[in-house]
Amino acid sequence: MTSRNPYEVLGVPRDATVEDIKKAYRKLALEHHPDRNPGNRDSEERFKEITLAYEILSDPGKRARFDRYGTAEGVPDLSEFFGGFGLDDAIRAFMENFGFGGFRQGGGVTPRGDDIEMRVELELAEAALGASREIRVRRIEPCRDCGGTGADASAGYRTCDSCSGHGRVRTSRRTLLGTFTTVDSCGACRGSGRVAVSECRSCRGTGSRAADRTISVEIPAGISEGHVLRLRGQGNQPGGTLPGDLSVLVAGIDYAPFRRTGDDLVFDVVLSFPEAALGTKIEIPLPGGGRRELEIPPGTQPGDVIPIRGEGMGRLRGRGRGDLRVVVGVFVPRKLTGEEKKLLKSLAGSRNFRHGG
Ligand SMILES: [Zn+2]
Ligand SMILES: [Zn+2]
Repeated sequence: MTSRNPYEVLGVPRDATVEDIKKAYRKLALEHHPDRNPGNRDSEERFKEITLAYEILSDPGKRARFDRYGTAEGVPDLSEFFGGFGLDDAIRAFMENFGFGGFRQGGGVTPRGDDIEMRVELELAEAALGASREIRVRRIEPCRDCGGTGADASAGYRTCDSCSGHGRVRTSRRTLLGTFTTVDSCGACRGSGRVAVSECRSCRGTGSRAADRTISVEIPAGISEGHVLRLRGQGNQPGGTLPGDLSVLVAGIDYAPFRRTGDDLVFDVVLSFPEAALGTKIEIPLPGGGRRELEIPPGTQPGDVIPIRGEGMGRLRGRGRGDLRVVVGVFVPRKLTGEEKKLLKSLAGSRNFRHGG
């Protein structure tokens, strides 16, 4: 859609305040609103662009993300933040930003069903390597028997009284930004201009039904908690509407027994003093499942890190995987028998046992 950065798009400096950003957006959105520029493709594109820029800069999380990833010469494509952000989305976002409920684009855009929001908890292997996750969703779909019209087609139709058969109703609305005259799709006949003489028996005239679906969600390798995966058109779709989206929030990832730092995973091992001094072989778990042997060299110190390249998290924004870092601890005995004390004391005076020796 655009490769400009959102600060440029709104004409605000990098350190602009929330108020400045809102002011700039309001002014530009008004100028380029599709209701003010009917049929003007350039305005539509511009309206989408500024709304998208505002969506990013008005959200502290997204703004921080943009600032972090977007400062390099190659400013990322804005649409990366909202794959496939359309005019409907822009208009909806605009309404939400300024609190105009029920305000629709001139010309009568087909309404959209509600989005469905879900949360998933991921296993480490899914988050580290990526996976297909099947999720169960109960959603509203158009009734199959009447094709979502709610009408019993065999009984015939009559002209809609509400819109006299035009399928559209005109509304003037005063808003903070001035008066907008909008043409909405007629609610009584859902824009068709006619109503059924008798309603569909399967859905009792609603045109909709609930359905349980299993939807496959692609989990990208390297995903983090808080990430939202958006599946376009997989949300609710009552009869006569376009489908909403399905948003899947990654609510948690079970990293145990590892810890995550960026794309790397950390695994802590505790060795006995003789193991650290003499060297040994240990087995460590891998994030994708399974285990592997790891050589501990003689003279390993507490705090030493042994990296296992490419066994960490997948890189969400790049190739390959981070590392698995094995951090070594050394256990000092808390209790000793008389015999053990004697043995240790006999070693304590030895030159190699003294720090700096
Ligand atoms: Zn039906
Ligand atoms: Zn009507």
